[in-house]
Amino acid sequence: MSVREIFARYGQEYLDAYGRKVPIRHRKVLHSILNCRTPALGAVLCSCESCGTTYTIYRSCGDRHCPTCQGEKANASGLRQSRCSGLFRRESARDRGKPRDTG
Ligand SMILES: [Zn+2]
Repeated sequence: MSVREIFARYGQEYLDAYGRKVPIRHRKVLHSILNCRTPALGAVLCSCESCGTTYTIYRSCGDRHCPTCQGEKANASGLRQSRCSGLFRRESARDRGKPRDTG
């Protein structure tokens, strides 16, 4: 069971039990870990320069206590874990559908 799963299962119960005794910083860490790499923190679209495959990469929380973020630092970026080995470029929503600059 991951830290995130423990927080998802017992986090609210913990907050309900200890209420205002829980420091704000602890609440923020709990919130960060629960929302890291989920749509709650937004996303970035990236596409492979080689095959054109588009990936949605959910934003990380960046909290130093987050095991997901700390694990990614060890494994470089999430893009490197994808099956696509090409170069990636970031797309914004307004770039989608525009012809690619191949120069
Ligand atoms: Zn995180």
